[in-house]
Amino acid sequence: MQQRTIRKSVALDGVGLHSGKPTRIVLVPAPADTGIVFRVAGDLIPAAPESVVDSRYATTVGKNGSRIQTVEHLMAAAAGLGIDNLEVHVEGTEIPATDGSARPFVNALASAGRTDQSAKRRPVTVPFPIRVGTDNRWLMIVPSDRFRISYTLDNDHPAIGTQTLSYEPSERRFIEDFAPARTYGFLKDVGTMRKNGLARGGSLDNAVVVGKRGPINGLRYRDEFVRHKVLDLIGDLALLGRPVVGHVIGRNAGHDLNYQLAVAIQRAAGLERRAVAARAARPEAATTAARVNGLLPAPASL
Ligand SMILES: [Zn+2]
Repeated sequence: MQQRTIRKSVALDGVGLHSGKPTRIVLVPAPADTGIVFRVAGDLIPAAPESVVDSRYATTVGKNGSRIQTVEHLMAAAAGLGIDNLEVHVEGTEIPATDGSARPFVNALASAGRTDQSAKRRPVTVPFPIRVGTDNRWLMIVPSDRFRISYTLDNDHPAIGTQTLSYEPSERRFIEDFAPARTYGFLKDVGTMRKNGLARGGSLDNAVVVGKRGPINGLRYRDEFVRHKVLDLIGDLALLGRPVVGHVIGRNAGHDLNYQLAVAIQRAAGLERRAVAARAARPEAATTAARVNGLLPAPASL
């Protein structure tokens, strides 16, 4: 599969979900092997696990004091549409909240058109199962020949309860079943979050708000909550900059665990690359293995 970017620049305005401040982004085509890069106040911040500076409530990337909050829904939209390379010019400190989902980013990217590039994609495979988290909140990835997510959200609130679903990437399924799922919050937490500088731009227009008796502003899907969890996970894993091949299984995770898994995958893939490189550097090891397997005769001198 070839890498992709967009055909022309496209802008999107809004407010930041957490900062509550006006913000504007311009999505700009980028050359092959650029990945997704945020440009803010003269700094270039690559979308990568090593750029993450905060993963509570939202994923924030930063460099040299510049910070971009809430990158995950835009990242998910790019991943869902198979866009590898993009420059994101940000005026403000946060990606627009839009309607709390990834749909407006999907629409913006689709309106810009897409184009294949000469370089090939380089998927990341995991050589062994990896798990992060605790007994109740965890994520794992196991080797598989394709990318899949199986997710369980188990919440005490009766309006949420236990919601389970699986995702296998197809552009249509992403656009129809996952991109429109909105972020959510509990009415009882709004006061504390605002005191901590979070959810200041949050409103009934950009989040599902769950009150005592359930969502006070209606749902797009009966299980919109778990769909949004999967959307966030797709967006956070997109920080790896390469498509992940493996089966991700999760329960009650959040941005912090998504980030930990991305780091663990990166590390495991790096270790695997080093192991292959080490084997290549020691041809005698390969010869011994072939001999053990009966592929080569033992040398006469031994
Ligand atoms: Zn989200």
